[in-house]
This record gives sequence, structure tokens and C-alpha cells, in this order.
Amino acid sequence: MTTQPKAPQTLNKVPPTTSPIWQPFTQMKTAPPPLMVRSGQGAILELADGRQIVDCISSWWVTIHGHGHPRIAQAIYEQAMKLEQVIFTGFTHEPAEKLASRLLSHLPPNLSRVFFSDNGSTSVEVALKMAYQYWLNQGQTTRTSFIGFDGGYHGDTIGAMSIGGSSEFWHPFKPLMFSMQSVPYPATWDGDQEVELKETQSLQALDQLLEKDPHAYAGIFIEPLIQGAGGMKVCRPEFLRALRQRAKQANILLIYDEVMTGFGRTGDWFACSKSQTAPDIICLSKGLSGGFLPLAVTIATEEIYQAFYSDDLHRAFFHSHSYTGNPLACAAGLASLELLEANPEQFQSIETKHRRFIDNWIKGNPRLTRTRTCGTIAALDVTTDNFDGYFNSLGPLLRARFIEQGFLIRPLGNTIYLMPPYCITDELLESIYRTISQTVSSL
Ligand SMILES: *Cc1c(COP(=O)(O)O)cnc(C)c1O
Repeated sequence: MTTQPKAPQTLNKVPPTTSPIWQPFTQMKTAPPPLMVRSGQGAILELADGRQIVDCISSWWVTIHGHGHPRIAQAIYEQAMKLEQVIFTGFTHEPAEKLASRLLSHLPPNLSRVFFSDNGSTSVEVALKMAYQYWLNQGQTTRTSFIGFDGGYHGDTIGAMSIGGSSEFWHPFKPLMFSMQSVPYPATWDGDQEVELKETQSLQALDQLLEKDPHAYAGIFIEPLIQGAGGMKVCRPEFLRALRQRAKQANILLIYDEVMTGFGRTGDWFACSKSQTAPDIICLSKGLSGGFLPLAVTIATEEIYQAFYSDDLHRAFFHSHSYTGNPLACAAGLASLELLEANPEQFQSIETKHRRFIDNWIKGNPRLTRTRTCGTIAALDVTTDNFDGYFNSLGPLLRARFIEQGFLIRPLGNTIYLMPPYCITDELLESIYRTISQTVSSL
């Protein structure tokens, strides 16, 4: 192995810039400069130059109540005056205890043990390690691999990338990732005639893996009801019920990554409640703190917890982060849950509006196809002579056009999706649809 790095053939000149910030998921050379945001209220972001932008994607899927909700801001302030942070091993605090119990009351009753971390990727890393050690602690040493779904996205850390291994984002990192097996995600849309066939094929692929190597896998990871970053691909609840049955029969853990789908996104509290299925482990993050602070949980069944519960320190779950269970984030989480509990109709009612505006603005547009909705989320594809997918150049082009008109919409390649904060008004939502239709027609 050589340690000498190859000299680069061409050095791209870095133009002078006033900001030292290297932005995430950004080709700094070709991307337009970032917009300076001054404030946010509800669905509206206000830029430093005074322009107003409608946040149609809840700032990367987190701000479920919209920006700057005063109840959450107040809860954080009050908690900060009492206790801002404390070591979370050997110590606990009221916001974490209350939040954990309150969360469980909205989840299937088999989920009972709440493990805190900071973000979606860490919640997935926790689930990976938990599932893996669960078998090890019972003397089963062969269950070292995982099953995921084509196009799955579970975060950007190495473990989370690995379980989303089929994604095109990870190309350079493949040698660092552990191997997994992937089966097709039975994505469907309005008017799809082949959904049952796709579901059967997916289950058959799963059966084949499980029959060939019944003791090789620790768990199956899925984004239930809708895959996010992989292109807002929707599957039916029927599929999850079949998957649940398969996993039980094969005695393999079923892990729901509800980082995006949690807290009302699917039009129900969680994708598990909407599909009436109960996973063995669930990962939650994005909407958990109402979008105010980084926070995540991984929640497991009693059976999993019991496999770690022992006089032997080696069987403990060795995982923690500096800010695990941060009191401010937990206080925000509690306030956010209270807002959801006080008004679940808000997230329950958005799908009907999406459907109405899709009928009014999208259905007749020949360039727009494969419309689909999942609760508060709506998506559609722009027909293209090019390939479908994230690297389709329509993505950045459309994003720029939408921003010019005052809308934050970030297409995933040729897939346009909306994931608005639940406070979005009917008028604003309709104006978003009108803009999408007219902008695509003018391409
Ligand atoms: C965003 C996302 C993650 C990763 O969460 P981060 O907080 O960005 O690390 C994991 N899983 C799903 C389904 C997501 O949408």
C-alpha cells in the first residue's frame, strides 16, 4: 500500500469568498451562493435582503409546526434557566423521562425501551449496533449482516450509509461500507396497475435471501410507507403487513427507520400506526423536537432490552454521545408533542388538500407524472428524455426557478416533492401547486 497521495491533475482555483463555510451536500464550485436567512415564522423564511421564501419542505423535513413556534421557544427558554445539559449516564432529568413516557403512549405497545441520541444517522447507528449485539448476547454469532431496500436512505455516517448501500450517493465510500443485501422497494403511484406484482417480487427476493442464509441476518431495515431521499417512493401498508409477517416467521428483527415519517408526516402519528404494524425497533428524529434542536431516539422491545440486561458488564450496550438526552432538546420535544396532541386534525387534513390541488393543477399537465401522496407529503415526477433519479440535471434547474419565485422546493433530480409544515394555509399550498405546474410547463 502506498502512502503517497497522487498529485491532482488539475487544481480548481478557489475564488475569493467571504465565508469560510463548506456547505453540506453541495458542490461549492457550481452551486449558487447560499441565501442569508434572517428570520423564520410559520411557513415563511425572511432573507437578509428582505425577500420572503415559502418553506415547502419544512427545512429538510424537520420544522413540522413551522418556524419559530412561540410555545416551543418558551419551553426551551424555561428549561435553559433550570438545567441546560447534564451527563446522561448515571443521571437523568425530568424532560427526558417525560418525553420517553409520552412518546411510548403514541407507539405500538411492544415498544418499551427508549435510547436517546442526537440525529437520524445516530439513531440508525444505534439500531444497527443494538440489533447486532442482541443476537450476540444470546450466543448467536452468525447474524452479522443486514437486509435493506433498494434506494433506501438512512443517513450519512458509515453504518447508516452501509444499510442504505444501494444508493448512488455513496459511490466514493463503497470500500469503507459493510456489505448488506438489498431487495426492491415496491414503489407505487396513482393509477399504478402493477403494484401487487412489485410487492410479490419484493417478498420473493426477501424469501430467497432468508431461505438461502436463515441465520446470516440480524435485521431488516425499511423506511415504512415512503422512502425519502431515495425519491419519495411510496409503498402500500399491505406490503408492510406482509413484511412484518415474513420477519416474524424468519425470526429476524424488523427495524423501522421513521426518522422522516414520524410525528404526523404520513397523516397518522407514525407509519407503524398508519399501517397497523409493529416493528421490533423504531428510529425517530426529524420532527421529534419540532425542528428546533437535534434530538433522536431508538426505541426497542422489552425482549431486546432483556438480552442486554445482565450482571455481566460486557452485555451492556456501549453507545453514547456527548449530548445524549440533552434537556433543552427534550423540552422542545415535549412542547412539540403537546402541540401535535392538541391538534392532530392539522396533520390529518393535509392529504385531502394535496389531492385536491393535484387534481386541479397537476393531473392535466403532460410533463408531470406518477403523482403520489402519503399524508402531508406529496410527490410527482417530471417527464424527462434523460434518466430518472437524483443526478438528473432538472433538479438544480428547477430549484433555482422556484427560489426566484419565492419557494423553497428542492427536487430530488426530476422528482418534485412537497413536505410543508403543518401550519401551511390552503392559499399558500395552492399557490405552490400553481407555481410548480406553470414552472414545469415553461421549461
Ligand atoms: C434524514 C434521514 C436520516 C438521517 O437523519 P440525519 O438527522 O440527517 O442524520 C435517516 N433516515 C431517514 C429516513 C431520513 O430521512
